[in-house]
Amino acid sequence: MIRVSGIKLSLDQDEKEIKKELIKKLRLPARDLIEYKIFKRSVDARKQDHIYFIYAVDAVVVQEEKLLRKFARDKDVMPSPNLAYQYVKTGSHCLKHRPVIVGTGPAGLFAGLLLASMGYRPLLLERGADIDRRTQAVQRFWQTGQLDPECNVQFGEGGAGTFSDGKLTTLIRDLRCRKVLEELVAAGAPSEILYSHKPHVGTDILREVVKKIRQRIISLGGEVRFQAKVTKLLVEQGKVSGVVVNNSETISSEVVILAIGHSARDTFKMLYDTGAKMTPKAFSIGVRIEHPQQLIDEAQYKQFAGHDKLGPAEYKLAHHASSGRSAYTFCMCPGGVVVAAASEEGGVVTNGMSEHARSDRNANSALLVGVTPEDFASDHPLAGIEFQRQWEQKAFSLGGSNYHAPAQLVGDFLLDRPSQSLGQVVPSYRQAVTLAELKHCLPPYVVETLREAMVEFDKKLKGFAHPDAVLTGVETRSSSPLRIERNEQRESTITGLYPAGEGAGYAGGIISAAVDGIRMAEAVAEKYQPFREEA
Ligand code: FAD
Repeated sequence: MIRVSGIKLSLDQDEKEIKKELIKKLRLPARDLIEYKIFKRSVDARKQDHIYFIYAVDAVVVQEEKLLRKFARDKDVMPSPNLAYQYVKTGSHCLKHRPVIVGTGPAGLFAGLLLASMGYRPLLLERGADIDRRTQAVQRFWQTGQLDPECNVQFGEGGAGTFSDGKLTTLIRDLRCRKVLEELVAAGAPSEILYSHKPHVGTDILREVVKKIRQRIISLGGEVRFQAKVTKLLVEQGKVSGVVVNNSETISSEVVILAIGHSARDTFKMLYDTGAKMTPKAFSIGVRIEHPQQLIDEAQYKQFAGHDKLGPAEYKLAHHASSGRSAYTFCMCPGGVVVAAASEEGGVVTNGMSEHARSDRNANSALLVGVTPEDFASDHPLAGIEFQRQWEQKAFSLGGSNYHAPAQLVGDFLLDRPSQSLGQVVPSYRQAVTLAELKHCLPPYVVETLREAMVEFDKKLKGFAHPDAVLTGVETRSSSPLRIERNEQRESTITGLYPAGEGAGYAGGIISAAVDGIRMAEAVAEKYQPFREEA
């Protein structure tokens, strides 16, 4: 198979025309092209008057070797690399018990799927409910303000990313990303995520996908238990010997993959008390900004705004401020909504999500400023959690102490004055917003950096600092506030404990967390043989 890149189609051309372009590019008779499939599709919108789709295609042709020699100097034509996932060789120690995986977010699910595929029959423990009951708990919170601290936007089957935009973009370069995408497609995600430059799934589809992955793990011999919170890690002579679930049931295991996400504050505390080495780490805090999606489409696509083939436009902006801090947009959700994402009583946390169609009226994005351990009140490993909590609680009280979120218009935020009423942008936050001054729930240096950055962003994306755009606070869970240290064998300072994913500080986002889960499963498999029950 050969990979041919740089095939350009205009918005008016049908995707079927790839074949014609391919034949032209390879200077082949049509009969010599046996088959092809799209490997990557991206949008080139750099020119004001033309927007193109750019394709890389994998093609099977007759006399492949000869063709490759003919195009030896053309960087757009090369042999297609083998992207098939390679399972690791299993180790020699025999496990005495099933491996335990804590958490069913992307890291836990993919660690579970891999170990189950390799015959390890893992046991997955999840503090929240299965996705159907979780969806009800989340809806109840959004409608009534009744928060279930064990089952919410952060906790439950599928983890934090289930009520999300389901963006699958990642900055990591790792062949396992392909494996993750293929498994998601096998579980019902649209196949275009395999080739889209900016793949996304949407909450509606993700909910079904995580259910199918769970069913697959079970069909491969694994077990998944919900409302099963790990409340204690059992350690004997520096080695894991098991876990306690819900303060009552002891489960023995010498291997625990810990994929608890960044919001399991009680579990972090328990681990710290157990002796797992942790260090505080930098993360970011800020607000969600909302604009009409049409404004973003027009700023990005000009006269092509609203074109069927383009879908709602995205953006990604960054600014290094005069203070030395950086502000950036993050986790932008085109055609989505701002959601209440708290997992702890008495705190307001915002985030963004969308359905697959991305057809809601507004675009939203996190607008964040980096904070470092120097900003926390102490150098205790858990100090970042306290820092987050402090701003979440301020936002809670500013919003009215009922999970309504404090909000302010961009124009007023820039002029440092309270908002009196909303303008043309209707906030999408599912509970109500309370107009307030966001400077009261953000550190002053974050406020200053955001103000400077918004003005700069407006120069790059016309309308970004529109006076009626809405800011909703606060966004504090951009990534983990700590790292659980792990060694070259990927174990923590406690042997047999494998910290995985975003909460452990080794991933950020669905794909990288899933990849990290796979890495942890590989580390377990490289060391151990599966546990075999005596006949
Ligand atoms: P998590 O997904 O957080 O999963 C951890 C799981 O562990 C949870 O289910 C939790 O209940 C469970 N758990 C915790 N403690 C225990 C315990 N003691 N016992 C048992 N179970 C426990 N990323 C993207 O790439 N694209 C997006 O579009 C996107 N949108 C997002 C939107 C929202 C609203 C949120 C909240 C996040 C979004 N993210 C997005 C981030 C993404 O969800 C996370 O990066 C990812 O889910 C991290 O995966 P993880 O498996 O490491 O942890």
